[in-house]
Amino acid sequence: MVLGQLGSRISGALKKLHEKPIIDEEAIKECMSEIVKALLQADVNAAYIKKLRDQVMLQVNLEADAAGTNKRKIVQRAVVSELQKMLETDKKPVKLRKGKQNIVMFVGLQGTGKTTTIAKYAYFYIKKGWRVGLVCADTFRAGAFDQLKQNAAKIKAPFYGSYTETDPVKIANEGVEYFRSQTYDLIIIDTSGRNKQEEGLFDEMKMLEKTINPDEVIFVMDSTIGQSCFDQAQAFKNAVKVGSVIMTKLDSHAKGGGALSAVAATQSPITFIGTGEQFDEFEEFEAKSFIKRVLGMGDIDRLFSVVQEAIPLDKQPELLNKISHGQFSLRDMYEQFQTVLKMGSINSLMSLIPGMNSGLIEKGKEKEGIARIKRFMCIMDSMNDPELDGHKQLNDSRIIRIARGSGTSVREVNILLEEYKKFAKMVQKMGKLSLGKANDMQNF
Ligand code: GDP
Repeated sequence: MVLGQLGSRISGALKKLHEKPIIDEEAIKECMSEIVKALLQADVNAAYIKKLRDQVMLQVNLEADAAGTNKRKIVQRAVVSELQKMLETDKKPVKLRKGKQNIVMFVGLQGTGKTTTIAKYAYFYIKKGWRVGLVCADTFRAGAFDQLKQNAAKIKAPFYGSYTETDPVKIANEGVEYFRSQTYDLIIIDTSGRNKQEEGLFDEMKMLEKTINPDEVIFVMDSTIGQSCFDQAQAFKNAVKVGSVIMTKLDSHAKGGGALSAVAATQSPITFIGTGEQFDEFEEFEAKSFIKRVLGMGDIDRLFSVVQEAIPLDKQPELLNKISHGQFSLRDMYEQFQTVLKMGSINSLMSLIPGMNSGLIEKGKEKEGIARIKRFMCIMDSMNDPELDGHKQLNDSRIIRIARGSGTSVREVNILLEEYKKFAKMVQKMGKLSLGKANDMQNF
């Protein structure tokens, strides 16, 4: 999970608070001090952290009469809401529309992952059925042409560029005209990676913007520099009309928290994040959803769309019907696991499920996660039909028999049952959402 360490430290602090017999001021201060330390380590700006702590304490004091359990909830809610505010901007990114010939220009410093991100971004839209063309207007860096061309080939997107032409404005214009004449939905322009000091390249970027008049300018930012993102994002914003930011390399660095909050402080909306070198390691960014997932609280809405992508519910009317009625048996979970195992990368799916990223699957631990899922399935193989279908409750002696039969332990069977409860709870929530969305889907 992106920012897994930060997330597990914050959720650990909240969990400790949950376990305290009495929630007094001291307990809350202790919890907040752990959260503050975790945020500082993720390079979040100290002024933000102070604001977050003050706001949480204010909320707690405002509702000072609340009973213990409520107090815990107040702290948790306030922490999530303040973290969310930290990563949000009021400004909304440009909405691209299929059928319109959207022109998107990418800008950023060299080495930030711009070329890789362009391919990920193009692939994101290609998967949605858009016709996407790539134009290489980077005539500055030797190799830029080949790199983008290779990426374009990998995602099967057409490519426009020139080995010999040295004028980026000319190439960009020709490329845009070429794809326009073929009525492409999305035309992406790669520009030279530049440095803050390279005035000439900044002028070239401005000239490109003026000539091709893009619908959207996307600034690609490397998250590993932490808070320094602020200055860079600001410099680009001052030069061209940056409409949104894509943050890269969030998988590889602990400073991601600082980077995200610093960019948000420039009032530039973050629309996607890069979480690895592969083209599908790319996620849409939405602050609340992101925070909930980082904290291991799952995200039902996103889960719904991911599951919908992975398991076409319209092809499984029975499952859809059950889910929409809030029913979900151990057998259904077994079938979900089978699908999840077929999906290849199960990381993103698992992090969306409440409680599931708490150690079940962490980035780099996929193999262990898969082994654990297989073990769960093995336990379920030792259950009988009424148990799997939820017609019969498992008592202690059955749990012991199942543990023996599956070569596992009573503890593992109980863990499976706990996970199942969480899973079923989530599916019940999903059921409420599903009817409306299923109708939308059927109208597709
Ligand atoms: P450019 O110079 O800005 O075009 O950068 P490149 O696209 O060539 O990327 C530079 C390096 O960063 C390459 O090794 C990429 O594989 C790597 N990279 C890009 N995005 C990500 C990401 O989200 N995570 C990780 N770990 N590496 C990335």
